[in-house]
Amino acid sequence: MKKITVLIPAYNESASLPRLAAALSPLIDNKMTDTPYEWEILIVNDGSRDNTLAIIKELHEADPRYQYLNLSRNFGKENAMLAGLDYASGNAVVIMDADMQHPVDVIPLMIEQWEQGYDDVYGRRSSRGKESIARRQLTKLFYRMLQKSTRIDILPNVGDFRLLDRKCINALRQLRETQRYSKGLFSWIGFSKKEIMFEQGSRTEGKSSFNFLSLLNLAIEGITCFTTAPLRFASVVGILTALCAIVYLIYVFVRTLLYGDPVAGYPTIMCVMLFLGGCQLIALGIIGEYISRIFYEAKRRPVYIVESFSGDDGGHEE
Ligand code: UDP
Ligand code: MG
Repeated sequence: MKKITVLIPAYNESASLPRLAAALSPLIDNKMTDTPYEWEILIVNDGSRDNTLAIIKELHEADPRYQYLNLSRNFGKENAMLAGLDYASGNAVVIMDADMQHPVDVIPLMIEQWEQGYDDVYGRRSSRGKESIARRQLTKLFYRMLQKSTRIDILPNVGDFRLLDRKCINALRQLRETQRYSKGLFSWIGFSKKEIMFEQGSRTEGKSSFNFLSLLNLAIEGITCFTTAPLRFASVVGILTALCAIVYLIYVFVRTLLYGDPVAGYPTIMCVMLFLGGCQLIALGIIGEYISRIFYEAKRRPVYIVESFSGDDGGHEE
């Protein structure tokens, strides 16, 4: 019998988890799929500050198909997902959020596609649930920019809700970068992909742990992890300014020869200096972003630290 792991990263989800477990129970009792599967629900506790861990332990006691992986602190969802992939034992893994935004009834559809030979079946939101207009527009703009600057497909409205075949999991596990942008990594590994539309609900309990600032960070992460286009942009701006400067230099030189130099031009000098100074600082900032990435990767620290695992802990030395 094929085994399917449902991987759920959880950070302060004590309110949602019991509801999620209730929603999952018909699925793992094989009432929702034509063929029966062996199930494993792997919940990664990403350093929650509430009693999420206690709830997961209870679930594990009551039903050994529930496994937990407890990280030593909050490492962020991206890292928690990699931890889960390392410890998942299924032939396929379904990654879903704990907050009920990813509907359980889509999972059988994903499995159907997987059985037909697709390796990466991802959910695409047909609507984004309740969200402010500003956030929606910003996300749209961000995707457009990111897509323009990289050859890898970054699909809008596609999140981490997906089914991955063992092949994909093994590929993802090789990508140990600490600055993770999973959305890009999923496309980077390739394999045959299939899209499934789903209606995303709004968060029912607790609140989203992503605010505007963390979304902005994620955006910068997304750009710097997958493209060096900003560096290219800085070079192009540099070349253009240098060209303009040469033209202006010739103009000033000729004018001085013809008409002498009446020593004016304080405003021009100020404008040019401030403008160039600004450009240089921006370019430095961009370079700095990439250097900081190198700094973090060069340390070669593990992506996460495990505090405890409910299952058999053999062969996980990462
Ligand atoms: N999450 C996590 N670590 C974090 C933040 C979030 O494991 O540091 C989990 C969270 O418990 C949930 C999923 O990631 O299962 C998505 O989080 P959230 O609903 O806050 O994000 P959004 O739906 O707003 O993108
Ligand atoms: Mg959510």
